[in-house]
Amino acid sequence: MILFFGTKPGKQIKKPLNHIACNHCKQTGTLSVTLQSNYLHLFWVPLFKIGTSRFVKCSHCKKVYYKDEFTIEMEKIVNSL
Ligand SMILES: [Zn+2]
Repeated sequence: MILFFGTKPGKQIKKPLNHIACNHCKQTGTLSVTLQSNYLHLFWVPLFKIGTSRFVKCSHCKKVYYKDEFTIEMEKIVNSL
């Protein structure tokens, strides 16, 4: 028997970070945070959530910030979601 087992991205939540400046290009209001949940699936049926990836992206310079690069302000908003 072949099992189709793996992970699958769930729904994406995107929120603008209006009052935070991008560390890279110094623009304000260009950052947005994306929360992406990942599910473990068996035969493409999601079984349970295995984690959420969070990242912040700047629409101006296209810089992507991952968790270890978040500033205190970013962290505060991301954790409040
Ligand atoms: Zn930027």
